Amino acid sequence: MSFLSIISELIFPTPRICPFCKKKMDKLMVCQECRVKLAKLREKLGQCRRCGSFGSPSVVCTNCRTWPQYVKYNVAVVPYYEEYREVLHLLKFQKQGWLTPALADLMLDFMPFKESIDLIIPVPLHKNRFRERGFNQSALLANRISARTNIPVNHRLLIRQLDTPHQTGLDLASRRKNLLNAFKVEKPLEIKGKSVLLIDDTLTTGTTFLECAKTLHKNGAKNIYGLTFAAGIK
Ligand SMILES: [Zn+2]
Ligand SMILES: [Zn+2]
Repeated sequence: MSFLSIISELIFPTPRICPFCKKKMDKLMVCQECRVKLAKLREKLGQCRRCGSFGSPSVVCTNCRTWPQYVKYNVAVVPYYEEYREVLHLLKFQKQGWLTPALADLMLDFMPFKESIDLIIPVPLHKNRFRERGFNQSALLANRISARTNIPVNHRLLIRQLDTPHQTGLDLASRRKNLLNAFKVEKPLEIKGKSVLLIDDTLTTGTTFLECAKTLHKNGAKNIYGLTFAAGIK
């Protein structure tokens, strides 16, 4: 822990709670009851085995049917629903970055492919959006996952060069069109032949994930995996 983070921890201590039910805990972490509740909900909803969308218990779904072979699969932990959606809103729109370690630790429990990954890359924000928000929540999640797995993370290789409008409310075709050439790779040599894990907070239709994966592959990455905190319910 750096000197600055010790000082900031003294002034603004991280709440020792479960981020979902807000119950008091010894440290910031998801409680056992919420884990059990999540396991039951995951089982009830079912999940697409390729992209992790909830409510679609099949091998592929309409979101991922056209994914190329080099896109291996995406793992999503919680459905975009009730307390999980609230936590994401707190993180993204109320700038509650202190929540990320608990969410990233939960994501790690569901990450089945640690040994296959050479490099972690967070889904980037455009610099305008970054300025507005002050941080990239996917980068915070990626940092924690990198620190816990010892897999290197790089925030500067994949860049969002287009400031695309919000995707909410758009159909799949418009989303894809919106994101065409939205990303670029800065130093292709650094991803050549590598298996990359893309980290994002949410997978909705998978359009952003797919476009990032395509850009990475075009620039030499071998395989792309995904790990997202949440995924939509079909
Ligand atoms: Zn809880
Ligand atoms: Zn799918």
